[in-house]
Amino acid sequence: MTTIAVLGGGYAGLRAARKLAHAKVPARIVLVNKHPYHYQSTQLHQLAAGTKEEADICFPMATAVPKKVNVVIDEVERVDREGHQVFLKSHPPIAYDYLLNALGFESESFGIEGVEENSLPLVDVDTALAARRHLEETLARYRTSGDDLDLSILVCGAGFTSIEYLGELVYRLPELAKRYDFPMEKVKIGCIEAADKILPMFDRKLADWATDYLRRHGVVFHTSTPITAIRPGQVVSNDATFSANTIIWATGVKGSSVIPASGYSSKRNRVVVQDDLSVEGNPREFLIGDVSAVLDPSSGRPYPTTAQVSIAQADCAAANVVAELTGRPTGKFSFKSVGTVCSLGPKVGVAQIDFMGHWKLKGWIVGIVKKMVNDRSVLEVADVKTVLGNN
Ligand SMILES: Cc1cc2nc3c(=O)[nH]c(=O)nc-3n(C[C@H](O)[C@H](O)[C@H](O)COP(=O)(O)OP(=O)(O)OC[C@H]3O[C@@H](n4cnc5c(N)ncnc54)[C@H](O)[C@@H]3O)c2cc1C
Repeated sequence: MTTIAVLGGGYAGLRAARKLAHAKVPARIVLVNKHPYHYQSTQLHQLAAGTKEEADICFPMATAVPKKVNVVIDEVERVDREGHQVFLKSHPPIAYDYLLNALGFESESFGIEGVEENSLPLVDVDTALAARRHLEETLARYRTSGDDLDLSILVCGAGFTSIEYLGELVYRLPELAKRYDFPMEKVKIGCIEAADKILPMFDRKLADWATDYLRRHGVVFHTSTPITAIRPGQVVSNDATFSANTIIWATGVKGSSVIPASGYSSKRNRVVVQDDLSVEGNPREFLIGDVSAVLDPSSGRPYPTTAQVSIAQADCAAANVVAELTGRPTGKFSFKSVGTVCSLGPKVGVAQIDFMGHWKLKGWIVGIVKKMVNDRSVLEVADVKTVLGNN
């Protein structure tokens, strides 16, 4: 029987496996994922700040996919693309006829010295929980250490993840101050960014609104400040040094390291795919989500790495596997963004919405929009009771 191997159970892989199962293809569908759960990557910043719990953003893989999908919990080490086999850490290799590689993103250090050893990334459940534990332990230690650096937090990068994390952090800090009995007025939060403004994907006015909001809540921005090294308790930018006992690294992501290990030619572990999302020279191999790069014909640049794009790619790739199996031509990927929403804590945010016009929104209305987006995403993998329980 034909085997379709789907690698990764994030937004792209999970959606593709579900679509293939619902299409009732005469094939065995195998989904390989590192953990026995799917997690909502778009809410990792909330887990790291402690405004959401693990159970709010993680859902058992077994119930997130239809029974027709065979789930293998293991880590993919590499793909033998010539021999059509996926090599796993603990199980025997899986032979496949069709491959959908959706292994997602990892933290990107850009080769900067000391990043891995001395800062905390936010790229999966384990790293988000480690960042949360570190933050709380460090803040709690102040009572006995009296060290001001225990109350200092530096966030590296001012893109989406950093700004959403800062929003949750400033929202939660008063509660943490009460719990661990530290003086709020002594807390120092810095955000260090190479570019001259935060949130590059947003219109200047909205980015300025977000900057003002976070400034009013105590965040100090250091823009036009490229990071050159991270040392224990220090972020270095050429001649300047910033000190803190909590350093969060959220400057950007790259694709899975399985990409170079499998011999793909890539840039930051993202492979440029054909317009039907297959790999050049191999019509049975598709790359979707953050491991792929698809050129947006309107800008000539790759689409951004977002959950929205990943889900649209999954729909297209699953339809193209079905087309291949039934001898029909494959279709081209096309994507129309419905906009971008950046939360600044659970209640406010900024958004550019492209739905029945172009809308630029800020404040509490965005909090409601973001909640609707998150609830809709959770509904894909869990039931209504879970969504209501999350509220
Ligand atoms: C804090 C944060 C907030 C974000 N907010 C937004 C937002 O508001 N809107 C938006 O559109 N996008 C947002 N993004 C981006 C979005 O999360 C990613 O673009 C999206 O998750 C990519 O989906 P994916 O399926 O390609 O990869 P992932 O979601 O990374 O899923 C990959 C899956 O593969 C598994 N895996 C990885 N390696 C292996 C391996 N070797 N073997 C087996 N399994 C493996 C992982 O466990 C995971 O289940 C945000 C990202 C972050 C970090």
